Parts: sequence; structure tokens; C-alpha cells
Amino acid sequence: MSYLAKNYNRKKISFKYGKGSYLYSTDNKKYLDFVQGIAVNSLGHANPKLVKAIKNQSKKLWHVSNAFQIPEGEKLAKKLCQKTFADFVMFQNSGAEATEAAIKVARRYFYSIGKPNKNRILCIKNSFHGRTLAAIFASGSKKMTEGFGPKVPGFDHIEFKNSKPRFPNIKRKIKKNTAAIMVETILGEGGIKTIPNKCLKYLRKICNKKEILLIVDEVQSGISRSGDFFAFEQSKIKPDIVPIAKGIGGGFPIGAVLMTKKVAAGMIPGTHGSTFGGNPLAMSVGNTVMDIVSSKKFLNNVKKSSRYFFLKLNNLKRKYPNVIKEIRGRGLLIGIQLHKGQVQFIKRLMDNKLLTIRASENVVRILPPLNVKRKEINVALKIINKVCLEFI
Ligand SMILES: *Cc1c(COP(=O)(O)O)cnc(C)c1O
Repeated sequence: MSYLAKNYNRKKISFKYGKGSYLYSTDNKKYLDFVQGIAVNSLGHANPKLVKAIKNQSKKLWHVSNAFQIPEGEKLAKKLCQKTFADFVMFQNSGAEATEAAIKVARRYFYSIGKPNKNRILCIKNSFHGRTLAAIFASGSKKMTEGFGPKVPGFDHIEFKNSKPRFPNIKRKIKKNTAAIMVETILGEGGIKTIPNKCLKYLRKICNKKEILLIVDEVQSGISRSGDFFAFEQSKIKPDIVPIAKGIGGGFPIGAVLMTKKVAAGMIPGTHGSTFGGNPLAMSVGNTVMDIVSSKKFLNNVKKSSRYFFLKLNNLKRKYPNVIKEIRGRGLLIGIQLHKGQVQFIKRLMDNKLLTIRASENVVRILPPLNVKRKEINVALKIINKVCLEFI
């Protein structure tokens, strides 16, 4: 009997401890963990540097109110700004909080320049921005919003299609009261669908022309997951607002909103807050993650692992064309789109000691730690090959 609410369909497995890419279950089995808490544990389990960072900080200071200066947060914000387009950072605790805060920043900006009616956010239908009330209505997915009462107003939707035009009717969807377009660079939950660089550029161009803001949700694709610090960097665009979370804490809950100076002007004292957001314990871990994953050498390694993994997966696709439809994604955010049988496929991978997780459109999502070893990728490939054989 479990006293936890039944909002998850949990697998009957639990873990004693983890080390790097591996998890050790309570029934003494060893699993290759290519879920990593859904792109959260950027450096795998129990990374010694992160253990040290949290241990040291835990002896000094866990939490103080944001009514006071927090030097650890100042440090992390500075690193994030020096590494990216951003001029200012606002810390939160999760992805949904970060995307909500991003929406607040966009609306508040227009309010602050005397255009309070410019407050609608244009999002991609069936994208994913988290599970709070605003975030589910931002995504507009029936499955996530059904039964949760009146629609949260202020969101419009466009389609994102693999065919051309990729954003049909987008110009017509931008109205006088549209404040921002919000997209994920790579739709994670939505099936590891990447918005091509050209299309991101196009979105930036439209936003400039219509004088609205571009919010790029990098909660899953960011923090070096794509092989660049942010996935949108490849397109050379500069967004106005970027929510982040997942990977930045390496397993400790951290969210943040990155923004330009222009839009930050609306966020005057009292406009937003968070009790836990940016506390010294979280920030110490975040600083350590940031120092490691943002270096050029680290990013080059992610790219190298990614190239190898994609090459081999595409070979499997050619070998089993009736099983694998498409290999999707970028960096170490990888999707194997199957023709059918996603749930059973994931179960068979797990029976063979490889943990993966689903995404929409029949996709098996693969999220290794960013410091994954070549031989671990090979172990995974062998298991995937074996399971493909069963599905021919
Ligand atoms: C996971 C995710 C979120 C929500 O993050 P939570 O920490 O679960 O609230 C938001 N946006 C994207 C793109 C995500 O992948």
C-alpha cells in the first residue's frame, strides 16, 4: 500500500544508490541509466565534485531569505550572463516556475513601457512548459489541461510541422495584443523535435518586425545537453528571455530565468519573488555544475559522444527499418522514433538493464549524463540492437 497519490504510473523498481551512468536497484541489479532524472543529472549520479560542493556548503549555510545578499547566487548569475546573451538572472526552483516567471517578465516589460494590453503569449500547440496552471494552458495540450477548470487566458497557439511551412499562419496569429512567442528549441516531451535553425531565425525576424519578445524554453535542451551551452546558439539568434532548470542543478532543484537588460527593466523590487529560489545550498551546487559543463573542452566531449551515438543509432535504423522510423535530436538529447510498440520496447530495454523514457510520437528518449563514457554508449547500443531484433 502506497500513501503517494496516484498521479504517476511508476515502474516497480527503486534504487539504493547511483554512480556516474549507473544505478543500483534495491533488488541488487545494475542499470545503465540513460534517463538521469530526465536530463537533470548532467554529471551522472554522485559526482564527487558535486558531492564535495554540497557537503562543504551544507556545513556553512543552507538558506537565507532573498531579502539579503546571497554571494553564491551573485556568482552563478555572473557566470550565466558571461556565458550567454543574458544581462540578468532570476533564480527559481523548477522548470515550470522558470517558464511562468519568463511569461511574467515578458508581460511586465510591456506594462512598464505603457502597453499593458500587450500580454498574450503565442506558443506551439502540444509543446511542454511544465505542469502549473499557466504552463499547461501555454502548451494547450488536451491531455494536460482536461479537468483542471477554467482555461487560463492569455495564450494562443501555432502548429509546428515537419512539412513546410513549419509554422502555418504564424503571421496571422500575431495580434496587436501579442507580447511574445514562446518555443522550446527542441521539443522534448513532444517527441524530440528540433526547430531548425532557419525557423528559429525566422521567428526572431518576425519578433523584431512585430516588436514582440522571443522566449526560448531551454529547460531540457539547455546547459550543454545539445552540445552547445544552449541549443539555440547554433542558429545564431539572440532571444530576449530564456527559462532554464533541469541540468543546471545536476540533481539539485534549480530553475532560473535569463533575460536581457531591456526586458529586465520591468522587474522592479516587489514584482517577483521566491522563498527558496537561489538559496546558498542550491547555488553552490549550481556554480560547480556550471564550471564543469560550460567549458569548451567539456562541450567538445559532449559533441564527440553525440556524433558517435548518432552514427551508430542511424546504423541501427538502417539495419532495422521496420522497427526504427527516425533518429531525432541533438547532442545527448536523443529520440528513437519507433514505428510502434514504444511502451513494450522501453520495458524490454529495462529488462536488459538499460533505462530510457518515453516522449510523444512513439519516441524512446535517451538522456545519458553529459560525461558519459564511450564504453557505456556501446553497452547501450548492444542492448538496443538486441531489443530491435525482437521487434522485427
Ligand atoms: C521539464 C520541462 C519543464 C518543466 O520543468 P519542471 O521542473 O518539471 O517544472 C518546462 N519546460 C521544458 C522544455 C521541460 O522539458
